[in-house]
Amino acid sequence: MELGKLLYDGKAKQIYETENENEIIMHYKDDATAGNGVKHDQFAGKGILNHTISGIIFDMLEEAGIKTHLIKKLSDTDDLVKKVEIFPLEVIVRNITTGSFCRRTGCQEGLVLEEPIFEISYKNDEYGDPLINEDHAVAMSLCTREEYAKIKASTLKINELLKEFFLSLNLKLVDFKIEFGKTADGEILLADEISPDSCRLWDVNTNKKYDKDVFRQDIGDLIETYKAVLARMENK
Ligand code: 5GP
Repeated sequence: MELGKLLYDGKAKQIYETENENEIIMHYKDDATAGNGVKHDQFAGKGILNHTISGIIFDMLEEAGIKTHLIKKLSDTDDLVKKVEIFPLEVIVRNITTGSFCRRTGCQEGLVLEEPIFEISYKNDEYGDPLINEDHAVAMSLCTREEYAKIKASTLKINELLKEFFLSLNLKLVDFKIEFGKTADGEILLADEISPDSCRLWDVNTNKKYDKDVFRQDIGDLIETYKAVLARMENK
């Protein structure tokens, strides 16, 4: 399939038009960024790895009844997906304390939370994706109260499915970020990607990090780390 006009050039992905106004092509780039784009590098093969990992996860979620934007894979780095209007929300679940949660609250790292924490941030690079709540999102017209309820319910179900999936790979799902979009018909779909870029994954036995924190914190080789996650998936 031919790539149409470039509609969006993001930090890790590009979006292209197709002849069908309800479908777009999502291309995974080799770029990695951290700290709101302050740290930036390119890793040959990262796009292929994240595309493959995210594809396996989206297929698993679809089979479990989660509606996603994915139509079909087009190549090693490209998917045909349903065109949606992305809610300007970063939807985050935390199972174990780390990252911005600890920086914000002073909470000790690595505590297993009594129950998952559901968080939303307003997707706005200029203001560093600030943490907001349901009332902010509704008052700012980022989503309706009904859409918020649907997004929250779907996200908590996704958390349970992902936790079980990663545990079968001997990985703990510490936290993750997902994004949702709305079709022209108003259907809410899981969009974007789910990969070691957007999840924190710790080895069950050693707590070794298998995610983008190796790049954020300069503590390991990003490609080797992502390859190890994919190898666990393929050997499952
Ligand atoms: P934190 O808020 O602790 O930095 O991140 C929480 C979770 O959301 C982590 O799994 C992190 O990878 C993910 N996350 C937060 N912001 C972003 C972002 O801008 N891009 C991606 N890919 N993941 C994010």
